Amino acid sequence: MSSDFPLSHEQLCELVKKFPTPFYLYDENAIRENMRYFTKAFSIFPRFREHFAVKALPNPYILKILAEEGCGTDCSSLPELILSDAAGIEGEKVMFTSNETPAAEFQYAYEHGNICNLDDITHIPFLKESLGGKFPELICFRYNPGPLKKGGNAIIGKPEEAKYGLTREQLFEAYQKCRALGAKRFGLHTMVASNELNPEFFIDTAKIVFELCVTLKKEYDIRIEFVDLGGGVGIPYKPDQKKVDLDYVAKGIRALYDSMIVPAGLDPLGIYWECGRPITGPYGWLITTAIHEKHIYRDYIGVDACMADLMRPGMYGAYHEVTVSGKENAPKDQVYDVVGSLCENCDKFAVQRPLPKIERGDIVIIHDAGAHGRAMGFNYNGKLRCGEILMRPDGTFKEIRRRETIDDYFATLDMQGVKSFS
Ligand SMILES: *Cc1c(COP(=O)(O)O)cnc(C)c1O
Repeated sequence: MSSDFPLSHEQLCELVKKFPTPFYLYDENAIRENMRYFTKAFSIFPRFREHFAVKALPNPYILKILAEEGCGTDCSSLPELILSDAAGIEGEKVMFTSNETPAAEFQYAYEHGNICNLDDITHIPFLKESLGGKFPELICFRYNPGPLKKGGNAIIGKPEEAKYGLTREQLFEAYQKCRALGAKRFGLHTMVASNELNPEFFIDTAKIVFELCVTLKKEYDIRIEFVDLGGGVGIPYKPDQKKVDLDYVAKGIRALYDSMIVPAGLDPLGIYWECGRPITGPYGWLITTAIHEKHIYRDYIGVDACMADLMRPGMYGAYHEVTVSGKENAPKDQVYDVVGSLCENCDKFAVQRPLPKIERGDIVIIHDAGAHGRAMGFNYNGKLRCGEILMRPDGTFKEIRRRETIDDYFATLDMQGVKSFS
């Protein structure tokens, strides 16, 4: 079930007078409390760190809040590395988990002391070449367990069909190669789930990764100093779903740690995560206004946000809870498709959804949009993406990203040159 929306109808009406819809609203207090719950659950390990996946909500204000809660970041591009810097997150607190990486991005990560997490065995010589012959002292690899790991879904696919990571055999060779090049410290990463709600899945993943740490130590004398269990922890988008119990996950992983890692002499082993969705997802909402209604073969409500602001429903058929401000307790006696203005028929925030009767001017709240929401926006159809508002713990509001303007849209076009172009 989605978390509660933090504003009353009256408060939201006041807010939209100041900041016209559509916009994203984030709840700082709820994000902090949620991060504290995560940290507390994993405090049973000697070394724990969450590296927030910047791609989920790439805003430096949010990164700064999470940094204050002890987080690092997980980045996959140069702009994401720069955002981490801007938020004061530095050195090994930044994990660079990229794939198909350009040389210049490896250079930046290396020069800033960030952890390079390589996606393939061929990236070892590529990295060395990118760094003009130098090689980092600390190196991490992404493991793809292939058919060893059952599961997968529409978002990430099956591990053996996924483009990411190295095979088990390649890993053994890769660490030895890096040691020969001067690496002295090693990390191991895997990410095989997306939006997974079954806690057993994560315990099972830890087991696969721990086994590999033990084998690397015994057979190759490679001591892994941290494992990064990736992201992929899901959130309850649907009303009948439940939050992942992180205490249960942490305890399950701790039992494996005690039976596998400690006897192998690998304690203390860092337990890292790079979650995005469960950190901010439930604490962000897309606030939009109903501007049209039409009745043809179905009943439609047209809102002022569109798929360019939030593409998950259109792209994955993802479910997001939709409520109407002030009508939370009204009977859901209508069935609507709630749609945006894109010239694509998949631009629907809700399909055949029972909702209260919606009038033009009603404020429609799209829930669980705090991760992979604004971040996945685009400009197709000349749509301008909306801004982001942060609700501070003292109840004040700060615009942490303005909405795009027509000038932003034209900024990459040569509007002067075209006039004389023939
Ligand atoms: C997307 C991604 C994450 C974050 O995933 P969430 O589902 O937001 O937790 C972490 N690591 C990598 C490598 C990713 O690609």
